[in-house]
Amino acid sequence: MQQLVECVPNFSEGQDSNKIGIIISEIKKITGVSLLDISSGIDTNRTVVTFVGSISSVEEAAFQAIRVASEIIDMRKHKGTHARLGATDVFPFIPVSNVTVDDCISLSHRVAKRVGDDLSIPVYLYEYSAQTPERKNLANIRYGEYEGLSKKLSDKSWAPDYGPLELNEISGATVMGAREFLVAYNINLNTMDKRMATDIAFEIREKGRAKRRDNTYSPISLDGEIIRYKKDEYPCGICEYVSNNYETIINHNNKDHSYDLKSLFLEKAYNKSNIFGKPVIQPGMFNYIKAVGWIVDEYHRAQISINFTNFNKTPIHEVFDTVCELAEKRGIRVTGSELVGLVPLNAMLMAGKYYLNKQYSTIGVPESRVVEVAVQTLGLSDVSSFNPKDKIIDYAVNNSDKKLVEMSLNEFGDELSTNSVAPGGGSVSALVGNLGSALISMVAALTFEKKGFEDSRKKMELAGTKAQLIKQKLANLIDDDTNAFNKVIEASRLPDSNKNEKDTKDLVLLKANKNAINIPLEVSRLSLDILELSYDLINDINPNSISDLAVASEVSFAAIRGGILNIYINMNEVKSDREFADNVMKEVDAMLSKASELKDKIFKESIQLINS
Ligand SMILES: [Zn+2]
Repeated sequence: MQQLVECVPNFSEGQDSNKIGIIISEIKKITGVSLLDISSGIDTNRTVVTFVGSISSVEEAAFQAIRVASEIIDMRKHKGTHARLGATDVFPFIPVSNVTVDDCISLSHRVAKRVGDDLSIPVYLYEYSAQTPERKNLANIRYGEYEGLSKKLSDKSWAPDYGPLELNEISGATVMGAREFLVAYNINLNTMDKRMATDIAFEIREKGRAKRRDNTYSPISLDGEIIRYKKDEYPCGICEYVSNNYETIINHNNKDHSYDLKSLFLEKAYNKSNIFGKPVIQPGMFNYIKAVGWIVDEYHRAQISINFTNFNKTPIHEVFDTVCELAEKRGIRVTGSELVGLVPLNAMLMAGKYYLNKQYSTIGVPESRVVEVAVQTLGLSDVSSFNPKDKIIDYAVNNSDKKLVEMSLNEFGDELSTNSVAPGGGSVSALVGNLGSALISMVAALTFEKKGFEDSRKKMELAGTKAQLIKQKLANLIDDDTNAFNKVIEASRLPDSNKNEKDTKDLVLLKANKNAINIPLEVSRLSLDILELSYDLINDINPNSISDLAVASEVSFAAIRGGILNIYINMNEVKSDREFADNVMKEVDAMLSKASELKDKIFKESIQLINS
């Protein structure tokens, strides 16, 4: 079972792309971590990063990200419009798959301790990890911001949960903790009337609405007159009961509706003396949701935009079904819905199983079918297409782990262009070698079928088969090279605090470095085969394809030298194995001179053939 924790850290740097890149690459370096999103704000001078992984991988990634942020962000110089307390301002851990809230609480304690001990950064725990009620709320902890941190730390009641009591001037403080996954969800209506959407949003949201008198001329509750609290007249927001005093109406709600009206009064700052004339509160139908109505011109629809703060307790499908009923009562219809951003698989399975049950169908069907039922019933492809592979976190993670060789050219270019060190020149060498062999295969195939070249058929078929084989090998080497590099990085992170550890590390590192040489060596060898094949074919092929053959030669040569450069750069790391190093260098020298000679000959002869 795939274990997934989501992290959404906020770093106090949104302008310097170099610094942001350093933090991101630190996160990406950790095996098992998948980066899902990065969004930086210039004005807020803040970057929000979303990544997921197993508990152990996000634990390491979290610490390393906070460490590097503490090295490159100086809070003494930080200016931005968003409230903040430190270089790594807030670091939530969110259970997504096969992880409990308790797992995330323990995780937050471990990371907080390490950050406090090793980096001397004060850490406050919030949300589920909070150790006092005042620390549950992020805004409470962040109150006073970085500038007020020194004063806060001197207040005993604000001693950090981990780390020093003294101010860390450069890094400030970090807020960390476990919280629920937030789902952003919109329900689409077949109307452009924003008031319809707002009216339904008010019905369902936890905060509730002002109670109104029924009106006969309109289906919209908003059109009714607001009922207000009066002296000796305290109507219930839920039923028709009217009390004559403040305490009884609170008790009535507690007893008859299990509803805590008192805390809602507190929230709205209603008290015994100021309540007269204030609207009667009608509680919302669901807890854990916020909702508003709006119009989306692009979709020609009104939407009820909903934030779920705990989809396990208030499931998406229950809200959807209720909104369908409320819409029907108002003479309108729900046309479908839309999930904004990524959603945990579990939320989709809950909905799919609920609807299968409703249809008297067994839920013992493949997972993909359960997801499909959810997508269809909730109408998730109504305004934009819902592709489970992209929208469901659990699937998207495996997507982003896909092999380089499976990427589109654009995707590969994008991946290559980021500031993570791999893939790099080694993978590019294998890729151009792969393209060279593909071109030779193409030239052979075109000649094979060309009238007048029947005598060359056998030779072309052999050449084409060989080129195809080499092409596939080089395709595999694109990923192998990046993986070899990552293995070296992993080995270099092994502990070396005593002799035993050091010896093991040296051994693993040597093996990883040899592999990082053998991969580009293979790229060069295979590409040299293609170069030789090109020269062997030059006088037998369809002359229309001569430029293709010449290009194959040029890129194969690039692949050979690219491979050799990647060998050179790793050579220092294998000096302890003299024999290995000497043999590789001998082979490299021979390849280099042979390749240079062949490439020049092919270039010259191709130009002659083109001009003849
Ligand atoms: Zn009542």
